[in-house]
Amino acid sequence: MTIGLDTRLREVLGKKTVEALSEGLGLDTVGDLLGHYPFRYAQRGERTDLGALQIGEDVTVTAQVRAAVQKSFVPKGRGRGSRPGGKPRDLLEVIVADEAGRSLTLTFFNQAWRAKELVAGRWGLFAGKVAQFRGRLQLNSPQYQLLAEDAADPSSAIEEFAGTLIPVYPATAEIPTWNIAKAIHTVLDMVPAPPDPLPRSLRERLSLLGYGTALRQIHRPDSHEALGAAKKRLKWQEALVMQAVLVRRKAAAAGETATAYARGGALPEAFDARLPFTLTEGQRQVGEEIAAELAGDHPMHRLLQGDVGSGKTLVALRAMLQVVAHGGQAALLAPTEVLAAQHHRSIVEMLGDLARGGELGAPPEATRVALLTGSATAAQRRTVLDEVKTNTAGIVIGTHALLYDGVDFADLGFVVVDEQHRFGVEQRDALRAKADRPPHTLVMTATPIPRTVAMTVYGDLETSRLTELPAGRTPIATHVVPYTDQRWMTRTWNRVREEVAAGRQAYVVCPRVGGEDAEDNGAGDKRPPLAVVDVIEQLRGGPLSGLRLGLLHGRLDTDEKDRVMRAYAAGDLDVLVATTVIEVGVNVPNATAMVVLDAERFGISQLHQLRGRVGRGAHPGLCLLVSEAPEGSSSRERLDAVASTTDGFALAELDLEQRREGDVLGAAQSGVKSHVKLLSLLKDADIIEAARAEATALIGADPELKGEPGLAHLVDDLASDRGEFLEKG
Ligand code: ADP
Ligand code: MG
Repeated sequence: MTIGLDTRLREVLGKKTVEALSEGLGLDTVGDLLGHYPFRYAQRGERTDLGALQIGEDVTVTAQVRAAVQKSFVPKGRGRGSRPGGKPRDLLEVIVADEAGRSLTLTFFNQAWRAKELVAGRWGLFAGKVAQFRGRLQLNSPQYQLLAEDAADPSSAIEEFAGTLIPVYPATAEIPTWNIAKAIHTVLDMVPAPPDPLPRSLRERLSLLGYGTALRQIHRPDSHEALGAAKKRLKWQEALVMQAVLVRRKAAAAGETATAYARGGALPEAFDARLPFTLTEGQRQVGEEIAAELAGDHPMHRLLQGDVGSGKTLVALRAMLQVVAHGGQAALLAPTEVLAAQHHRSIVEMLGDLARGGELGAPPEATRVALLTGSATAAQRRTVLDEVKTNTAGIVIGTHALLYDGVDFADLGFVVVDEQHRFGVEQRDALRAKADRPPHTLVMTATPIPRTVAMTVYGDLETSRLTELPAGRTPIATHVVPYTDQRWMTRTWNRVREEVAAGRQAYVVCPRVGGEDAEDNGAGDKRPPLAVVDVIEQLRGGPLSGLRLGLLHGRLDTDEKDRVMRAYAAGDLDVLVATTVIEVGVNVPNATAMVVLDAERFGISQLHQLRGRVGRGAHPGLCLLVSEAPEGSSSRERLDAVASTTDGFALAELDLEQRREGDVLGAAQSGVKSHVKLLSLLKDADIIEAARAEATALIGADPELKGEPGLAHLVDDLASDRGEFLEKG
């Protein structure tokens, strides 16, 4: 039998190991197992921080034995009536410590013999669940492996542990890291070097290790240098495959023909003529770029980034009008019903009688703006579907309800996706599929995206940025308020009252809805996060009594949500107590203050998005981040960072550093997530950029990658992972 990456593990390993690998870690083939990389490498004398262990966590630590103490231990009688003084048991307590001298206790019952090998001075790997006993952290009956006593004399340790760098794998209770290591060693010794998916010329030019060597070195590194070379090579492979998928997608799009919508026309000209303000320089420039692309006969695929309030919607609307002016339809896809309804309101308002197509007295160039959400009544839905089908509505706004069957466009020429991070590539595709010819696409996001992330997640799009806010905006002042300080809290609510007294409005944001989800978050001894349904009652009966308070959260039905948003937008409510449903794009220029409760529960970018809801009008905005996080804690530092700058890009970078890579890619990028194991979107910018260039050259010369079957195989795999997600989605 030839063993290759596709060979099932059950053909090469024992049953118990195979089961543990499959059930606990989802590893079924030789390729899966060899792709299960160590997450770190233990070393004698390394700094594991025993002080950072969390109770309940499964850990593998590197530590040195300091002392072993034999104790005798009489188990407590179980309940009333049991005889006192059961049979005494041996208790061996072993104290291990890290470099900094922080210690951890290991306990073993009736295993006194272990004292012979757990002698002071020995280094080992210890694995178990962290528990607490009498205020001290301990591992009960941990599994362990000792390291060679002397690097020069590996015979004193088990073979796998003889090297200087010991791989530590993501493990489970069923299979500790050293058994995974053993399985990998077995397999590595059986598999002949697999075919190399990286083009030979690239490998030679960049002196990258061969695939087989890299796999061997990542699991059994000979040295730090060899490990570094192995990682570099494997990262290159991840980056190249990913970029090849994106470049191929982009190339395919460039080969498509789209309907060209000439610039100008009565409708866009009439609209521009009545704009009550001048465009910012960015809006003008990006507008030019987009107008030119819409007028071309290849479909536009563009990402528009701009901080909250930078005026993206206006840019999109002007582009939509260009399409509508020439007989096409434009669809605007929004992530939530609140946002879809708000877009509808504000676009209808901006258009004025240009949105009254077909009505008496409307200008001849006017069109109609349809709103389609999941909550429309059957009759409303029929009317809207009819307007869409007959091209009576030039602009169609909706949530993912737009994606469903039964929504037929007469001539969909342009798709705008707002706040892209909520949608995946797949949903974008589903909407595009409703057009007869590939439509032009504009994706808008207010989440500032670092360049390498943009290149990865939106690598098939061209990007534009709006970097300035419209003139006359006053920056938002942000402060952190300690929740436990009564004076500060009184002052906070008084500030809200002052804004309202001055004729303005405020938001109060909480992390949780409350009510039936009460038990969801009550983890351990921590109090559950504050909930809107409770907070609104407390405010009503206390600090904000007498004000008109409204409640908004995701569990309200759509009519109610819409009613509340309208009332707030109309100024019939003073304060909106809400969850993050208001995070994305909600625009009420008269709202000037925001109080975020339990602010440390939100991410950095999320807080930045949230506060973008205030200060959208002529009056300065104020954002108060209320938190119990003690000064100096990492939570508090994040809040201080948000308070210290309004630069969304700087905050996005900070956010990225603190999140796991996988989270950055978003739920919709599942294929990419499982593919990117070593590559860091932040730290490996150079590799990603170089791989982009290589992929562009490769696919330019050989679009089907016929000359690189190994690479083509991986590229197809990754591309189809995305397809799979669509079916599940
Ligand atoms: P974004 O979607 O980027 O967060 P919006 O498009 O919602 O921003 O714009 C925010 C507000 O600014 C809206 O009320 C809009 O009418 C207004 N606005 C847009 N462009 C300008 C401009 N050039 N000058 C003044 N106000 C503008
Ligand atoms: Mg917006």
